[in-house]
Amino acid sequence: MAQEDYYNVLGVDRNASDKEINSAYRKLAKKYHPDLNHEPGAEEKYKEVNEAYEVLHDKQKRAQYDQFGSAGVNGNGQGGFGGGQGYGGFGDFGDIFNDFFGGGSAGSQRQANPTAPQRGQDLDYTLTIDFMDAITGKKTQVSYTRSETCSTCQGTGAEKGTHPITCDKCHGSGYMTVTQKSMLGMIRRQTVCDKCQGRGVIIEHPCQTCHGKGTVDGKNNIEINIPAGIDNGQQLRYEGQGEAGKNGGPYGDLYISYRIKPSKDFERNGNTIYTTVPISFAQATLGDEIDIKTVHGKSKLKIPAGTQPNKKFTLRGEGVPYLRGNGNGDQVTTVQVQIPESINEKQKDALVDFVKAGGGSITPQEKGFFERLKEKLK
Ligand code: ZN
Repeated sequence: MAQEDYYNVLGVDRNASDKEINSAYRKLAKKYHPDLNHEPGAEEKYKEVNEAYEVLHDKQKRAQYDQFGSAGVNGNGQGGFGGGQGYGGFGDFGDIFNDFFGGGSAGSQRQANPTAPQRGQDLDYTLTIDFMDAITGKKTQVSYTRSETCSTCQGTGAEKGTHPITCDKCHGSGYMTVTQKSMLGMIRRQTVCDKCQGRGVIIEHPCQTCHGKGTVDGKNNIEINIPAGIDNGQQLRYEGQGEAGKNGGPYGDLYISYRIKPSKDFERNGNTIYTTVPISFAQATLGDEIDIKTVHGKSKLKIPAGTQPNKKFTLRGEGVPYLRGNGNGDQVTTVQVQIPESINEKQKDALVDFVKAGGGSITPQEKGFFERLKEKLK
C-alpha cells in the first residue's frame, strides 16, 4: 500500500494545489467510503486514498514525500500512518473528516450487542514473596477490591420485584440510526441510543444497593497455593476472580504476577541455584569433605585433592523444584580458595618446610610497617 504513488492515488499531478488535493480527496473518499460503497476492494482503496491524503495535504509531509518518497514520511520506511490502518480512526484526519462524520468511530461498535452477556474485566495483581517460599511453595491469602455482581438485584440493576424493560427507542439494540447531512451528501450512521445510553433496557426503579449499576465494589479474599518452584516474573491465572461481568456474563480472571525477594545465601536462575563456598588452601590441596548450604537444608560436598580456585561443582537435584513434573534442578557451587591474610610463626615454618620438601626455595617477605600497625589496631 505504501508503495503506490500518492499523487496517482488521488489522481492529481505533482504540482496540484491544496485546493485540488482536497477536492480530489473528497470525491474519492465519497466514492470508496465503506458506508457508501460495498464493492469488494473499496475499503482497501479507501485506505489508500486516506493514506495519500494524510501526506499530501500536510505541507511538511508532502515536501518530505516529494524528496524521499514514502520512506521519508513513514519514519521507519514501513507500515502505514495511524489513520490509514482502518476506517475507524477518523480522529487522525482532524479537520476535513470531522466535518463529514462528527469524528465518531461507530465502525468498531456497530456489531456489539449492548444487552449480550459480557465477561468481566481481568485483573492484575503483583504478589511479592520470600525467596524460600518460592522454592517450597506456600498457602497464602490475597485480598483486593473488585466489582461484584450486586446480590440485592442479582445484577439486573432493578429493584426487587421489578424488571428492566426493553428500551422503546432502540428496541433493545442500544443503537439508533441517524441521517446526517454532510459534504458528501446524506449519510446514515449508527450512534448510541440516547434514551438508554446504549444499554438496550430502561430501569424504571433502580436497585437501592447498586443504584442501577448491577455491580458493587467488594473486597475479594482468596486463598492461593503458591506452587513450589514459581519464578520471578511468572504469572498465574485464577479463573473467575476478576471483575463482575455484565448482563449475566461471567467474571473475568485474576492474573497474579510473582516477584521474588532475593536471598543472601543463594542466587537463582530458573531451576538452578548458585552458591559460593570458601575453602582453605590446604583443603584445596589435600581434598576434604564439607557441608554446604542448599535450599533444601544442607548437603555434603567432596572436594578432591588438587582442586583449583573457582572450580564449580554441580550437586544434582539440589536446585529448585520444577513447576510441572518431578524433581529439582541442580545447585552449582563455586569454591573460593582463601589465602590466609596472616599466619602464626608455626604455620610459617611449616609452609617454608613445605616448599623445601618440594625442592624449592622461598624468601618470606616481612609485612610493611603500616600493615603491622593495622593488625595491632584490629
Ligand atoms: Zn443492585
